[in-house]
Amino acid sequence: MEKRALFGSDLTELTRLMGELGQKPYRARQIFEAIYRQRLTSLDAVTPLPESLRGQLSIAGWDVGLPVIAQTAVSADGTERYLMRMADGETVETVWMPDGDGGERGDGSEAADEEAGEVETAVEVVSGVKSSFWERRANGRARSDFGTLAEKGFRRATICISSQVGCAVNCQFCLTAKLGIRRNLTAGEIAGQVASVLNRHGIQIGKDRINLVFMGMGEPFLNYSEFMKAVRLLVEGVGVPESRMTVSTSGVLPGIEAFAREPLRPKLALSLNASNDRVRAEIMPITNKWKIAQLLEAVREIPLRAREWVTFEYVLLGGVNDQPEHAREVLRLLAGVRAKVNLIVWNPGPGIDYRQPEPEDVGIFQKMLIEGGVATYIRRPRGRDIYAACGQLKRTVAEESGLVAING
Ligand code: SAH
Ligand code: SF4
Repeated sequence: MEKRALFGSDLTELTRLMGELGQKPYRARQIFEAIYRQRLTSLDAVTPLPESLRGQLSIAGWDVGLPVIAQTAVSADGTERYLMRMADGETVETVWMPDGDGGERGDGSEAADEEAGEVETAVEVVSGVKSSFWERRANGRARSDFGTLAEKGFRRATICISSQVGCAVNCQFCLTAKLGIRRNLTAGEIAGQVASVLNRHGIQIGKDRINLVFMGMGEPFLNYSEFMKAVRLLVEGVGVPESRMTVSTSGVLPGIEAFAREPLRPKLALSLNASNDRVRAEIMPITNKWKIAQLLEAVREIPLRAREWVTFEYVLLGGVNDQPEHAREVLRLLAGVRAKVNLIVWNPGPGIDYRQPEPEDVGIFQKMLIEGGVATYIRRPRGRDIYAACGQLKRTVAEESGLVAING
């Protein structure tokens, strides 16, 4: 018999289930606490429940049902990439980035603890082999952070979560796009990635500082209701504050409009990636459906909380969108939006025909935006050596389908 996962059920659903089994409603609360707050992974461990009830659930086919970490790759910078296996055998990737910074600096992962000296400001301009330059920066940073954070007695990390198996959006620079869409993940499978990774690292919510970014495989706003249900389970169950979560969308207009009305929601990042519709349509065909102006209008409607900014991600593709005229256009677009920009140096992938920007151009682009009044960060690549960086998920399937991976 195929097992049914309790993980993913909200309190209402658990209460209904208890009713069906002739149990009192407070049993639902006990299960909710056990699987989300305590993150217990098997029914046997849920000792507040009488053995008879555990037996009843088990006979009916219920289990906690977290996704399983089937493979792990560890990067020189401490980043870990997991292949997560779901009950039906489908897999997605989840990424753990210790010392949280940074990789997502500017996405809001710094949330409630903006610490002086940690924000990247100027860009160093060097010539030579670009990828090793970006990686040296990353390695130096991860190491030097470690001592001070350990002394503080808590840990910091960012977890990057997938929302779909593959992706339907077909951005031309992204490896996940090559997979096409296989299926949506359920709320339990989305939140379950977080619980499995927290368990692996023995994280104590409330003490350790964990940021969540919905920036893995898939387009969260094309799986809107399961994604939002996962957010609620993570906030109300697992205990991660929504101010420590950021969701990135490629620009699904109805999703942004619904998101603006949510009483409880993460922060928003929009993958702008181009300064006008013509270039954007070339690299992101979804632009043919919804134009930049429509997206920005919807973003302006989001009631922002105190100290909340909308992040605009901008993948720099050499010679395509990384020139001064593009920076000027970005400034015009973002006028009047409480925006920060996250520049991402494009990460190469097999079979994708772009080139990385020149480091000089990256520096000029950032400088122009900052001088134009927009807080602009360069997202350092995390785990590029293990193919865990943005847009590099998922290598495993790419390899299976005959595409050979080239690192860095
Ligand atoms: N589907 C969502 C979230 C996942 S992608 C979205 O597109 O927003 C997360 C970020 O990685 C996006 O900003 C995307 O533009 C960027 N990205 C995709 N492929 C990349 C690559 N090869 N190098 C660098 N960034 C990439
Ligand atoms: Fe999908 Fe995001 Fe990749 Fe575009 S960048 S194909 S939306 S995962």
